[in-house]
Amino acid sequence: MAEFDNPYVDEDPFVRAHFDCLDCGGKLWEYAIQRQMVCEDCRGVFSSQQVFDANIEQPAD
Ligand SMILES: [Zn+2]
Repeated sequence: MAEFDNPYVDEDPFVRAHFDCLDCGGKLWEYAIQRQMVCEDCRGVFSSQQVFDANIEQPAD
């Protein structure tokens, strides 16, 4: 039986994002394929762009 060398087999589909949930402040995880982020606490789903925009608005100290 042929074996495929799947480059994704060791990849976690969720990439930990360095952003907080816009609703509850929980950790957001980016789902790389769909460019969405999912909160691990409230399961809220946000588009990556939505999260980026929200973070850009905050002043950088
Ligand atoms: Zn949340």
